[in-house]
Amino acid sequence: MNTVVDRFIRYAKIYSESDPHTPAGTIPSTDRQFDMARLLVEELHNIGVDNAFVDEKCYVYAQIPATAGYELLPAVGLIAHMDTAPDVTGKDIKPQIIRYEGGNIVLNQEKNIVMESALFPELERFKGQELICTDGTTLLGADDKAGIAIIVQAVEELLTDGGPHGKLCLGFTPDEEIGRGADAFDVKNFGADFAFTVDGGDISHYEYETFNAASASVDINGFSIHPGSAKDKMKNALLLAMEFNALLPAMETPSHTEGYEGFFHLTELHGQVEQAHMNYIIRDHSMERFQQRKAVIQKAVQQLNLRYGPDTVHIELKDQYYNMYEILKDCMDVVHLAEKAMMKAGVNTPTHSPIRGGTDGCRLTYMGLPCPNLPTGGYNAHGRFEYVPVESLKTGVKIIRELVSPDLLERTHFKKTV
Ligand SMILES: [Zn+2]
Repeated sequence: MNTVVDRFIRYAKIYSESDPHTPAGTIPSTDRQFDMARLLVEELHNIGVDNAFVDEKCYVYAQIPATAGYELLPAVGLIAHMDTAPDVTGKDIKPQIIRYEGGNIVLNQEKNIVMESALFPELERFKGQELICTDGTTLLGADDKAGIAIIVQAVEELLTDGGPHGKLCLGFTPDEEIGRGADAFDVKNFGADFAFTVDGGDISHYEYETFNAASASVDINGFSIHPGSAKDKMKNALLLAMEFNALLPAMETPSHTEGYEGFFHLTELHGQVEQAHMNYIIRDHSMERFQQRKAVIQKAVQQLNLRYGPDTVHIELKDQYYNMYEILKDCMDVVHLAEKAMMKAGVNTPTHSPIRGGTDGCRLTYMGLPCPNLPTGGYNAHGRFEYVPVESLKTGVKIIRELVSPDLLERTHFKKTV
């Protein structure tokens, strides 16, 4: 039998980076993600999951029927993504296992790349443990190859042991890192009553709250005239842009907020005297405050149009995704199942906190598939200091095995056929 470590290292070495520059309709964004998909299908076949397949959009699906007598248990979905983040290269990843003895970790002697314990104080907790690290030149892709390894390993162990379980549905998606992982997900044929993405961090931490999110595209029309004869005539779009931004609460930006605090985030600003363009993203966990924020930015538009004439400022507001908790609050059984499985797997005090972002799971939740997020054990995602403790990977496998055991599922009352 494989170990979760062998499995993870095998997956991590496969170059499967997604590309945000590929037009949104092209799924997957990179053909190389098929390399990961095909390997997974082959491995699933090898462990006895004969119906595993990859579709033309690079989504891998598989179902494991319930063992006899357990057909009425809810069908549990397990989801992880196959792509790695484009922020740092995922080509030629050379994972190495390092026994952590405290202090700094030299990842690459030759290039003098060192992971400093002062920068990553949580390392201290893994003293005496084995960590899977990079060679300092790439990311590791524990986000989310660790999630894939944990799921496949748990399935292999489950099928080898022959213990009872309900129906399991597996889904491995492309393009999560560029925000498109749910775009072509076939919720209906997936066949689960609810699911979990295995795409979190610290092994004692799970998540079921995300932001509500909107984008605002703001266009400002100025009027250009020679500055020498501009008195009472010129409307400088650049100055109006600054005035517009000053109407938004100055302390409600990403750099001043944390926890459940929402924000307005100016992501783009360019223009000349005649024309200026601004882009904002608007985020809040509370639906009420999210709506208020959209009203505030619209008020700013009205204000400037009152001061400088109608049609000076145009705004296009677009909702992007919503907090999964709005739906999950009515099926907290699913969330509690995650917590109970973690405790049975040896995590003494599972913790949770609101995600300051979105996940594919939040879009899936709104597509009818409730989908909280489970941990993978990985740290420092999207960077060269990414690592995952071996012990955490093993705990991840245990969590999945507990999650799908009849023992816990029998006490889960939520069942929804999508
Ligand atoms: Zn991820």
